Amino acid sequence: MQDIETIWKQILEKLELRISSVSFMLWIKTIKPLEIDEKDNFYIVAQSVTAKNQILRNFLDKISDCCDEIVGKKLNITVLDQNEEIEYLKNNQTKETVSKREEKSPFMEKYTFDNFVVGKSNQFVYAAARTVAEHPGKRYNPLFIYGGVGLGKTHLLHAIGNYIYEFSPQLKIKYITCEQFTNDYISSLYSSSKNKSIMEFRGKYRNLDVLMVDDIQFIYRAKETQEEFFHTFNELIMNNKQIIICSDRPPKEIENLEDRLKSRFSSGLIHDIQPPDIETRIAILHKKSQLEKYYAEDQVINYIAENVESNIRELEGKLSEVYFLATLNGKKVATMEEAKEIFSKTQKDEYKDDLSPEKIINVVCEYFKVDYKDIVGKKKNKEIVEPRMIAVYLISELLNLPLVNIGKIFGGRDHTTIMHSRDKITDEIKNNKKTANIVNEIKNLL
Ligand code: ADP
Ligand code: MG
Repeated sequence: MQDIETIWKQILEKLELRISSVSFMLWIKTIKPLEIDEKDNFYIVAQSVTAKNQILRNFLDKISDCCDEIVGKKLNITVLDQNEEIEYLKNNQTKETVSKREEKSPFMEKYTFDNFVVGKSNQFVYAAARTVAEHPGKRYNPLFIYGGVGLGKTHLLHAIGNYIYEFSPQLKIKYITCEQFTNDYISSLYSSSKNKSIMEFRGKYRNLDVLMVDDIQFIYRAKETQEEFFHTFNELIMNNKQIIICSDRPPKEIENLEDRLKSRFSSGLIHDIQPPDIETRIAILHKKSQLEKYYAEDQVINYIAENVESNIRELEGKLSEVYFLATLNGKKVATMEEAKEIFSKTQKDEYKDDLSPEKIINVVCEYFKVDYKDIVGKKKNKEIVEPRMIAVYLISELLNLPLVNIGKIFGGRDHTTIMHSRDKITDEIKNNKKTANIVNEIKNLL
């Protein structure tokens, strides 16, 4: 079928010959064709309620006849007034928008807002990302997100992408890593028809509605690219186009980043994403287990959450390792047996050559002048408890060992006791200069 505007134009030409010119001018010419849906309903909009009534009473048959002649089949014509039009548009919004994009979303399917677990560590950044997805170019611009490896930055970018792709189909949106941007630019510089390819490059980036650049920290490597990016950035922002940037550190800490870019990056909203707390880690593991069908006992989920703290990718990785080991053992649901096996293997892999729990304990003993067997033993007097907690803290921090394994080293203590010691010292370092100094001195001895 031809497009609706063309069909309507042809219908009007026919109608004009069959209706008095006054009526045509008053009631017909002002009609707006709205949509022909897949059930052959043809919706047209009258200019007012009066016009709608006139059309229904006097002209509907004629319109319908002309329409049949043009389209070659019977369409059911529905006349809406303007309020009904708005209602109609609201009800059909999702259907219409989904059908408008012809290609599949270029963003990672599973990186959506729905699959992103929100907790204390990321709630603000989540809210900012969501706002930008809902109102691109209108609120925080640029949005700059930074945070450590594996904390969900790329996931959020794709979530924004997926959202805009679905709900704002008219917008041109691009996700790119800093490296891809650089390579793309450099290859246009060295192309045989240099001018043409630079123009093409600019056309590609400067006509976007939404540009997302991941891992911008690598931009320090290429000076010319910084220059180009600066102009792309300005052009987009000036035209109220949305820019979202991710980095592993805040703009002011990106090496060799030109000052003018630093200040541009800081001109919108800057947000960091923190390592998740234990509740969020547990929630993420449950989500992952559900999505990927990595079945595991609750105890296993809690155990993994307690032992992997700072990187969500690693958290998920451990769950899949544990699950696959369980399937090798012929189980459908992972149990503590697999969890413990995986973590004891990690422990061996991760020991640094010259640093071991024993060495750390020895140095702590020497510093406080206490016995090794006391520190790993059961004594509860203050002279022993403090060195023990500091040793636990250092082992956890420097060797990144699972809490359960640290518990074993300290005479089979429960991992929650270990966690308590570690957290207590972490707090004290922040609030008590004396403890901070002691820990630093021991670290230097190591
Ligand atoms: P980054 O880009 O910050 O290095 P990613 O976005 O690649 O991190 O995230 C690493 C993995 O962790 C991805 O598989 C991602 O889906 C997952 N992830 C990160 N944060 C969350 C979260 N809040 N909820 C669910 N999964 C998350
Ligand atoms: Mg990333």
